[in-house]
Amino acid sequence: MKQFAVGVDLGGTNLRVAAVDETGALLEKISLPTRAQQSRETVIREMCEAIQRLSERLAGAGQLAGIGVGVPGIIYMETGTLRQSPNLPGWENFPVRREIESVLRTRVWLDNDANVAALGEQWLGAGRDVRSLCMLTLGTGVGGGIVLDGKIWRGFLGMAGELGHLVVAENGVRCPCGGQGCLETESSASAIVRKAQEALAAGRSPALGKLVQQGSAITSESVYQAAQAGDAPCREIFASAGRYLGIALASLVNALNLPLYVIGGGAAEAWDLFAPAMLDELRRRSYIFCEGSTRVEKSMLQGDAGLYGAARLVFQGDNR
Ligand SMILES: [Zn+2]
Repeated sequence: MKQFAVGVDLGGTNLRVAAVDETGALLEKISLPTRAQQSRETVIREMCEAIQRLSERLAGAGQLAGIGVGVPGIIYMETGTLRQSPNLPGWENFPVRREIESVLRTRVWLDNDANVAALGEQWLGAGRDVRSLCMLTLGTGVGGGIVLDGKIWRGFLGMAGELGHLVVAENGVRCPCGGQGCLETESSASAIVRKAQEALAAGRSPALGKLVQQGSAITSESVYQAAQAGDAPCREIFASAGRYLGIALASLVNALNLPLYVIGGGAAEAWDLFAPAMLDELRRRSYIFCEGSTRVEKSMLQGDAGLYGAARLVFQGDNR
């Protein structure tokens, strides 16, 4: 009988569940809001109900091999417990894997959301022709994942790949991780919004002032629109985010010498505005970056990378 895995992307805003077969074909997908303000037990129950609905619909198509779940945060891999999560407040030390397994009586694989996105991208996306890659996801924070020879590199405690916390600015702003000058404080969507608010407060960006007057909120999307319309301070905000990405990439290229570096997450949509500065900085700072053979590319699967990667964890079956 054919098998399928369920991949779950448990975000702070959206909860998405997909059934994927061993070839990577998407069989079914369900999306619902994550009611993060409800108790964590309620969120888990709604997730399990969605998985059950999906499995019932696919009862004739194959057998459920297991469930892979990508969660934002740091995980104790041995116990499947969430140690810390910026997007799921109150979930600290919650045994997510055990809770899901006790409801669904199916094996569950749990990993960090950026790690599973990197795995998905290697399996079916920009990295499908390479065995190893590194991925940065630009969202509220900056996530990171390293895949070596087709497997997530987790480090000895399971916490490797926190590439958003590579230090790129010696005296930079404080980071939610407790550090200072992390990549996340310069190149995330939140960093773009912070810099836009600074430009607005200093009266440097009339285009943003106009947007706010018209009732628009300052988001990375609205800053992108203003930049696209030619606003110089907004264009500089993206160039700056790109330069810091280039600094981080130069260190990654020098340390890892991987064939591919993938940039994903919502803010990667601004590729045309930040990539030129990113690549200039990378060329300037990494003496082993071989343009033409070392690739730096935008994510191909975008928001679905994590769903595929979570399902892939099940088919790989080890390292739980
Ligand atoms: Zn940090």
